[in-house]
Amino acid sequence: MVVSEHEFEAGGNRVMKVFAPKEAEGERRAGIVPETVGRLAKLGLEVAVAPGIGAAVGMPDEAYREAGATVDAGAGTDADIVLRVRPPEPAEVAGLKRGALHVSFLDPFAKDGRLEAFANAGVSTVSLEMMPRTTLAQKMDALSSQASLAGYAAVLMAAARLPDVLPMMMTPAGTLQPARFFIIGVGVAGLQAIATAKRLGARVEAFDTRPVVEEQVKSLGARFLKVDLGDTGQTEQGYAKELTEEQLGKQREGMAKACAQADVVITTAKLFGRPAPRIVTAAMVAGMKPGSIVIDLAAETGGNVEGSRVDEEVVTDGGVRLLGPRTAECQVARDASRMLASNLAAFVEHVHDAEGGGLKLDRGDEIIRGCLMTHDGRVVHEKFAPEPESEKG
Ligand code: NAD
Repeated sequence: MVVSEHEFEAGGNRVMKVFAPKEAEGERRAGIVPETVGRLAKLGLEVAVAPGIGAAVGMPDEAYREAGATVDAGAGTDADIVLRVRPPEPAEVAGLKRGALHVSFLDPFAKDGRLEAFANAGVSTVSLEMMPRTTLAQKMDALSSQASLAGYAAVLMAAARLPDVLPMMMTPAGTLQPARFFIIGVGVAGLQAIATAKRLGARVEAFDTRPVVEEQVKSLGARFLKVDLGDTGQTEQGYAKELTEEQLGKQREGMAKACAQADVVITTAKLFGRPAPRIVTAAMVAGMKPGSIVIDLAAETGGNVEGSRVDEEVVTDGGVRLLGPRTAECQVARDASRMLASNLAAFVEHVHDAEGGGLKLDRGDEIIRGCLMTHDGRVVHEKFAPEPESEKG
């Protein structure tokens, strides 16, 4: 199915409005930051934000006004483009204008009826999770921008809790050995975690099932742990393939020693659209030294570590501290917001039609085809669209 180029019914030369609403309780990032107001206005868009969206991270309403935005809680109902971080509540979907474009993280694999709600409301939706991982889409890749900060923040969270310093220190009071970090999963978050831990002077070891990662780990000055798992590899998009139970068993065996020796274990191993693999068992955690820290960045999608809980800090009987932050990047929420808002602005720039003044949602475009979920009253993404009646059975 091809959806042809779509021009927004912008009503002649009416100026299009872009709006960032208030996020759910506890979310400190925002879809528009003062720095992106000018970028959006330059496209000829009228920019509005809900009051207080940046207040918690030092971006007051006044900064938005100075940048040229209107601060108005009610601007969402007639906005042509809505930029936000988290998926909206169903009631908010119903309140959007028909024909509007909504861009945010959407958790599309949750299959919670949200896509259908967008389709029924006649709202075109883009899921940031589905943005292609290509060079062309790099500026819009919010998964990467946020994962990178999550990797950084995970190291700081561990460092703040570890009862030791990270670098080697030779002092008249004695020599302190560098802390040992073990990073499992070396995608965007893992690479940033390695780089951050190295900068702080830790000794770092890492593992990933994708063999191509070994060189990247070494180039950051870390050691790559070799575990022979047989055939592993990666998908066309660069994501890891799921391991068999036998391979996972071998992996756990190969890693038990590295975990036991580590002062800090950070796990970032995810499988796109599927639950995260359970890599670190309770027995492996029990083998760690008291005072050690485990940060499970995959806790939200099922967890790499047995016993970790989303957004909780658990201390095991053996004195190991387990953390499962849902969005570790929110430890540095202002910069996380800046990067995310920049990803969103880049997407608007990509779909903005400089000649017609509307938006082009052309499914012939690789980026749009990858991330457009609903359009023209239907779920259109090939992975999520309902099977046509003629192809059933
Ligand atoms: P991710 O968050 O899906 O997973 C994190 C890491 O966990 C991956 O490196 C994965 O291989 C690893 N993993 C999965 N199962 C594992 C297991 N059992 N044990 C150990 N590690 C395991 O990955 P990501 O950070 O989103 O990156 C995915 C890919 O996309 C990477 O290849 C990355 O380089 C690529 N990428 C490309 C671009 C681009 O070209 N613009 C941008 C971003 C990411």
